[in-house]
Amino acid sequence: MLLISYLGYRIAKQINLRSRIEQKLVLAGIELELINETLSRLANQDGLTGLANRRHFDESLMDEFNRAQRGENPLGLIMIDVDFFKQYNDIYGHVAGDECLRKIGKVVAYSMRRPGDLAARYGGEEMVVLLPETDLAGALAVAESIRGAVQSMGIAHTGNPLGVVTVSIGVEAFSPIHLENQPIELVEAADKALYKAKESGRNQVCYAHSCQGRVTTESLPAFL
Ligand code: GH3
Ligand code: MG
Ligand code: MG
Repeated sequence: MLLISYLGYRIAKQINLRSRIEQKLVLAGIELELINETLSRLANQDGLTGLANRRHFDESLMDEFNRAQRGENPLGLIMIDVDFFKQYNDIYGHVAGDECLRKIGKVVAYSMRRPGDLAARYGGEEMVVLLPETDLAGALAVAESIRGAVQSMGIAHTGNPLGVVTVSIGVEAFSPIHLENQPIELVEAADKALYKAKESGRNQVCYAHSCQGRVTTESLPAFL
């Protein structure tokens, strides 16, 4: 009897130990999953603005381009560059410059309307917004809201003739995307439009060869 009781006690103890080890393993697995999620989020994120980084943008552009091509859907791209930003750094210092970029990044992030939209830091003080299933009119409306919101923040900038920080924006949308088109062409077209916005006086939204500074969303049909 004594032997049987002892063996029963040992078995119960082993079962108990085993279930505690299993619980610990489950918890460790959950922790590992969370760590992996954080790591992959950080690997895709720009450290300064919290927007997606260039690597993530390049991958998403490729994916969305292929998806839009297959589904014959439009794909819009917005390219943003801060006006007179070299002067901003010179006047207010690089720390203030970084803070300014953070604030603009927030405005850009808040301007996203759909879960599939992607805002990223393209490099330096340039940001991009990728807009799946969005045509030129839609992309221009988002761009104009970003331009207006940045100006409305009223960040003082004595090196800008307007006295506040502003951005110039180039917009392009392919709808539909032709088979011979490449993702880089969308970026190049938006970049060209951005150059046009700079040439035309800054604080403007431009597409292809047309510009209209300070348009409102309501006036977009006339703009187009
Ligand atoms: P423009 O209106 O023609 O765009 O004039 P700009 O002075 O903004 O000219 P450009 O776009 O060529 O200048 C980019 C400047 O942005 C250069 C660099 O000093 C500044 N910059 C780029 N990345 C950062 C950053 O991470 N932090 C800060 N503080 N400044 C940056
Ligand atoms: Mg620049
Ligand atoms: Mg600039």
